Amino acid sequence: MPPGTPSAEPCIFCDIVAHRAPAYLVYEDAEAIAFLDIFPFTRGHLLVVPRHHVPRLTDLAPEEHAPYIRALATICRRAERLSPDYNVTLNQGAAAGQIVFHLHFHVIPRYGEANPFTPSARRRLSEEEARALVAELSPP
Ligand code: AMP
Ligand code: ZN
Repeated sequence: MPPGTPSAEPCIFCDIVAHRAPAYLVYEDAEAIAFLDIFPFTRGHLLVVPRHHVPRLTDLAPEEHAPYIRALATICRRAERLSPDYNVTLNQGAAAGQIVFHLHFHVIPRYGEANPFTPSARRRLSEEEARALVAELSPP
């Protein structure tokens, strides 16, 4: 599928990329966007998404790797405003926990909590917290 081709199936991240669905965006460039996860594991949990709809990293063309990883590194630097410690994770395939089949890295700030990776640790992001985080994470 060439870059810029939307998914034939409905895809929430394609809708966010196209600004058809709401999201708390903190970063956009020609190749990628980043926004707050709506069910964060920790404060400031971010998703870094290529504009091009592909399910997996291995579906990206080689020339798409560098701009995407550059965007990921930019978002990691932004996350360091919140904490020097964070997890960068990529779930590939349903058995690995992937539920949105549009490629995305998670950047999950860590604050010394024992294990935030449990369903019960997740609460829907509030408007108030999201606005504060967008203000903290958006400016270059
Ligand atoms: P994964 O399990 O790697 O596919 O993760 C998908 C992530 O997308 C989950 O952490 C969801 O909370 C998040 N998510 C799903 N829909 C939205 C949305 N509309 N806005 C922000 N995050 C979302
Ligand atoms: Zn998509």
